[in-house]
Parts: sequence; structure tokens; C-alpha cells
Amino acid sequence: MAEQADVIIVGAGLAGLVAATELADAGRRVLIVEQESERNLGGQAFWSLGGLMFIDSPEQRRMGIKDSPELAWEDWLGTAGFDREEDYWPRQVAQAYVAFAASEKREWLRAMGHRVFPVLGWAERGGYDACGHGNSVPRFHITWGTGPGIVEPFERRAREAEKQGLIRFCFRHRVDELLTTGEHVDGVRGQVLAPDSAERGIKTNRDEQEPFEYRAQAIIVASGGIGGNHELVRRNWPERLGRPPKRMVSGVPAHVDGRMIGITEAAGARVINPDRMWHYVEGIQNWNPIWPMHGIRILPGPSSLWFDAEGRRFPAPLYPGSDTLGQLAHIQSTGYDYSWFILNQSIIKREFALSGSEQNPDITGKSWLQTAQRPIGRKGTGPVEAFKEHGVDFVVRDNLEDLVRGMNELSGDNLLDPADIRRQIEARDRQLDNPFTKDFQVMAIHNARKFTGDKIVRTAKPHRILDPKHGPLIAVRLNILTRKTLGGLSTDLNAQVLNEQGERIQGLYAVGEAAGFGGGGMHGYRALEGTFLGGCLFSGRSAGRAVARAVA
Ligand SMILES: Cc1cc2nc3c(=O)[nH]c(=O)nc-3n(C[C@H](O)[C@H](O)[C@H](O)COP(=O)(O)OP(=O)(O)OC[C@H]3O[C@@H](n4cnc5c(N)ncnc54)[C@H](O)[C@@H]3O)c2cc1C
Repeated sequence: MAEQADVIIVGAGLAGLVAATELADAGRRVLIVEQESERNLGGQAFWSLGGLMFIDSPEQRRMGIKDSPELAWEDWLGTAGFDREEDYWPRQVAQAYVAFAASEKREWLRAMGHRVFPVLGWAERGGYDACGHGNSVPRFHITWGTGPGIVEPFERRAREAEKQGLIRFCFRHRVDELLTTGEHVDGVRGQVLAPDSAERGIKTNRDEQEPFEYRAQAIIVASGGIGGNHELVRRNWPERLGRPPKRMVSGVPAHVDGRMIGITEAAGARVINPDRMWHYVEGIQNWNPIWPMHGIRILPGPSSLWFDAEGRRFPAPLYPGSDTLGQLAHIQSTGYDYSWFILNQSIIKREFALSGSEQNPDITGKSWLQTAQRPIGRKGTGPVEAFKEHGVDFVVRDNLEDLVRGMNELSGDNLLDPADIRRQIEARDRQLDNPFTKDFQVMAIHNARKFTGDKIVRTAKPHRILDPKHGPLIAVRLNILTRKTLGGLSTDLNAQVLNEQGERIQGLYAVGEAAGFGGGGMHGYRALEGTFLGGCLFSGRSAGRAVARAVA
């Protein structure tokens, strides 16, 4: 059968777009086959906060942060915990990625018009020792324009290449099978789905209209992870994170269905590290949902008090923002799928950020004026206040006894004893009388405020939580929220897919989340954050360049 293009890419998310634009730049003809409608171009990245890891960036230096590739690599290793034979390629990709994030990445993006917000975030702070999990320094650079701002340069380049006849999009084309001639993967087969006029992010129909089959010299799988398929998430759930949650909310749209990973496996690919995943523990049900079971992640500052379902405060160092998977394992050990933040208006105002482009209209809309107003006044951002008012997981009361009663009513489990919660909060509040303390979380607050970014916008001035001046009191029921797939299709540094014997499969490549962000899991067990979009950029670029050479 005749070839429809030099290369077929399955998936028009960020990783697919990056690979496509690199190929088009090299003069190759690309067909992008995407199951969703044109409105969903950019996939998950559009919805993202656009947080990116750069190492030793001008923004870090301006804030007085001393970072280096050595420090970042040490942090990466302490976080990833690579310990398997199949970590050979993931580790190589991780090392190359850290070097990229410390060198070319920022300038490469800047040349396409990408910019970042000057105040950095400090994600995954760890709390163990210097060799353990976490970022030693703030490295989370938010794209000015959030998710749409990271998609835009690649969409623009892809549209230009489309005009030149180098890129062709086939939307509503769902791939069901990879085709092979001899040992060479050289085609895709699937179904054209019925048109769907739903807005971006809304689940679309799967009504089949007619079959299709396309051929090319190489196929790049850029189909994303499994987070929208809770059944798959539960099936791959590792014992080390406790039992799989019965109830979760979805941090990703329904198209993150994981199907294509199995389809690629059926064509001979090896899937590695499927038990490694990155789900959040601060999920709240979206009061205004877009996709099924839509949850939003709170990006919390360090001051909220964290209690399990039975009202026991989390042990150190599991305070907000320290160690996502440590917190997840802890919650699952309690026998309940939820936990609680208790805080007050001063803390929500300063410390609650919500992940997602639509939850940050000021930064997404690139409005300096609105963004500068964040620290002013007593209220949180519009979206945070809207959640406080409408969110089903929020309880807001003027005194602690009423608050705990509201929490018991909300959960229906009636597990919380107001006197015991009061005892724990008063004990914590007493630790604020001196500038030093034995309470690890209070130490973490003092430490955070030594970083200017946290002091200005992310960490409330230490105060007694029960002080009425800082009220009302707020409790938030936190759900487990599915998001990222850390394992995936095993690849080499050029994103070429490997089979069970570790041999390269001719013509087959995988990028982005489908490939565990490169190599089949460049994060290992845990992530430093801002590295997922980065993994899509890096693996998409590597694949685009390598495939351009291979199909020359
Ligand atoms: C709300 C939110 C916030 C986030 N914030 C950040 C952040 O700040 N920093 C960060 O680093 N990461 C963040 N992420 C994660 C990051 O956005 C994703 O990991 C990344 O965008 C995945 O890109 P991808 O191209 O690999 O996959 P996707 O974006 O999932 O794209 C895959 C595409 O493939 C298509 N597809 C799948 N199967 C088929 C098939 N069989 N046939 C045809 N097409 C198919 C899908 O429809 C989809 O369009 C966030 C994610 C979300 C949802």
C-alpha cells in the first residue's frame, strides 16, 4: 500500500506536536492521527499549569537561588530511586533531560516566544536528608500563559507546516492497531469516529463511522498515559502505596485512556514500570466539572494542618508540599481514601493555588494587573473563593466545634472528635510563641519564608490557626486525584521502542507520557515536578530529530 506520509504520529498532545514540528523542520511529511476533535489540540498540556523545571535559570539567580546541574541530578537520583534492571534507559534519559533543563531548554523555548512568570514555585520539598526525595531549591517555573502558553509555539509551528503541506491532521481518527511488514512497524489501522461538537475537554462520543488504514516509514506513539482510566490505575496499583483507592477523582480528561499503550504492546513493545504512577492527594471535586469525575489539585503552601480521616495529624515530614507519594502511602495505610486540611482565611488566601490553566485566569490571560493583585486583600483568587463557596469538599465555620461537626456531616463517617482536634491545633499554635520550635511543620514554615518567593506570595506569616482575627476556619476534604503515568513504553535515548529482549523495533518510536516521559520512566518512582511537560518536550524533540534522520 502507498505511504500517506514519511511519519505517522498517534496523538496531538504536546509530545506529538513537538515531534511533528521537528520533523517538519527537517522537511519530512507527517500525518497526525488524533482520536479527539480539533478543539482538543494540545491534549493535557492545554489544561496544565505550564510548570517547567529549569536548572540555574536567570529567574532563579534573580531570586538569589543557587542551583546547579550537580545539585539537580543529586535531587533527581534521591527522588527517582532507580533500582531495577529495566531502569537502564530511564536513567540515561533522566541524565540527558537534567542536562537539557540546565542548558538549551530555556533558550530553545524563548526563541519560540515562550516566557515564564518571574516568581518561582518550590514543589516537592522533601523533608528527609540531603540524599533523599525532593527539590533542594525552588525550580518550578510557571509558563506565562500557563498550559496554553506552552502549547502555543508548537501549535503555531505545526499550523505553518500544515500550510506548507508538511503536516496533515486527521482528527476523530482512533488508532486500534499498529501494522507491521516483516519486522518493521509501518502503519496504523483504526476507526474514524463520528464528528463531535463538544467543547474542549468534554468527553466525546466513540461512535464508529468507517475504518481507516495509513502507512509510513515510521510511527511515533504520543498517546498519553492512563490517568483517565481508573480501572487501569487500580490494576497497576503497587502494594507499596497500600490498597488501591475505591474512590478517586480524575485530574485528566477522559481521552487519557491508556488504550494505545496496550495496542503498542501487542505490536511487540515492552512496557516497563507500570506500577510507577504519580497521583495527588490534595484533590477536590470540581464544582463546575468539564470532564468525568473532574478533580482539581490544590497546590498547597506549608501551613495547613493535615489530618487523617480519624483526626490524627500527619507525621513529619508529611506536611503540605513535601512528598506526594509518601502522603499517598500514609493515607492508604489509614483504611480511608480521604484526608483533611484544617486552615483559616489567612492561609487559604496566601497558600492555596489550584493547578490548571482554567483555574488561573490571571496568569493564563497574561494579565500583569490581575496577577499583581493576588497578594492584596483578604480574599483568595476568584477560583479559590468560588471553591470555598460552591465546592462540596469545603466546610467554612466561625468556630472549631461547628467546623468539626460540619466535617463529620460531610464525610458521614462521624470519626472526628472536636476535643481531640482542638488539643492538637492548640498544641501546634503554642509552638509559635518562640522563633524556634520542636514542631517540624512550623520549622518548615519558618524555612519557607526565608525564600523570597514564598514570603511574598506563597506562605502566610506564622500565626495561631485558632486566632479569630485570621478566621473563618476552613476544612477541606482531600480526595485522591489521578494524574500521571510514570512508567510506559520502553525506549532508548532516541525514543525508539524496545521489545521484550531489549532490541530496537524498526520504525516504532514513543514519546511523552506514553513512554513514561522518556525511556519508559525517566522519573523512576517519584517526580520533582515541572518535569512532565519537560519530558514531553525533550522526548518529542529527540524523537523528531532521530526519526528525521532515520527516514531520510
Ligand atoms: C490539569 C493538569 C495540570 C498539569 N500541570 C502540569 C505542570 O504544571 N507541569 C508539568 O510538567 N506537567 C503538568 N501536567 C502533566 C502534563 O500536562 C501531561 O503529562 C502532558 O501534557 C502529557 O502530554 P502527552 O502529549 O504525552 O499526552 P496527552 O496530552 O495525553 O496527548 C495524547 C493524545 O493522544 C490521543 N490519543 C490517545 N490514544 C489514541 C488513539 N488510540 N488514537 C488516536 N489518538 C489517541 C489523545 O486523545 C490525546 O490527544 C498537568 C496535567 C494536567 C491535566
